[in-house]
Amino acid sequence: MGNHVHATLSDFYSAIPVEKRTVETIENLLKQKWSRNREGFSDSEEEREYGERALSMLRRFVETQQVDVQPLMVERFHEAPVSENLIINGRIDRVDRLEDGSLHIIDYKTGHAEKSDTFQLHLYCLILSRTLTWPVSRASYLHMEDGVWQTLEVQSKDTEKSRQVALSIADKIENETEYPVVTGPLCQYCDFVEICDVKTTQEH
Ligand code: SF4
Repeated sequence: MGNHVHATLSDFYSAIPVEKRTVETIENLLKQKWSRNREGFSDSEEEREYGERALSMLRRFVETQQVDVQPLMVERFHEAPVSENLIINGRIDRVDRLEDGSLHIIDYKTGHAEKSDTFQLHLYCLILSRTLTWPVSRASYLHMEDGVWQTLEVQSKDTEKSRQVALSIADKIENETEYPVVTGPLCQYCDFVEICDVKTTQEH
């Protein structure tokens, strides 16, 4: 479901002219994506429930969010060297250019989490600080279930701090010798959380 919602929003901003960005248009985009990939549901009832959730998120999005903006980029893959031995990459949902010329990173969250750990946003800021010349001044999660924004005002010292954290995590991973499955807050970012056996078993 999350992938369909992301792909729909990407097309909505990159392929649909402003005057056609309506509820009907976004519903049709979602239906097209859905019909091309219907994998991952245990039965048709589950598929219907997720379909309704996705439709309701996207309808609310059009009714309550600013749909006439022209983002600088959507669903763009970025790759940035942050030290001699470490390259970080990621696909960023959307980047808007603000009136003062600075950038606003936006990440759509389709899961149920009320508030998300902001490290992902800090990593995106780090990546863009290495790949673009415009400064990032703001980074946000938009929680699609309820339309709530969670926004950081970004300072350059935060980005350097994230770089240090990323380097220490990379160092730890490099020296790890065992890899047990560990569930935790990062599961909310996982594309497979809705069908993950380990996660589902631990929740019951
Ligand atoms: S949801 Fe499952 S597959 Fe995804 S990170 Fe968590 S444990 Fe791993």
